[in-house]
Amino acid sequence: MSRRNRNARPRAVPTPPAPGSAAGRVVAGFEVRAVQPYQAVKAYRCPGCDHEVPAGEGHVVAVPIDDPDGRRHWHRGCWHREERRLGR
Ligand SMILES: [Zn+2]
Repeated sequence: MSRRNRNARPRAVPTPPAPGSAAGRVVAGFEVRAVQPYQAVKAYRCPGCDHEVPAGEGHVVAVPIDDPDGRRHWHRGCWHREERRLGR
């Protein structure tokens, strides 16, 4: 039988959504929400690449669970990279 280590990606313990929060996943202490293009009415600076997330582009908002004012807007790709960096 062959049992190999597929995808050494550690499977995270499922994190329950923070109580009282709207739809969104919780990743490494952030609540992550997808922003649809029609919801993106403002341009933001992406902390991942330091470039602009233009208005009208679907992107991702990450809100620190314990600091709801510290929300950041990320390009989708940049956030995915960040998620991997944050690990698990
Ligand atoms: Zn970016």
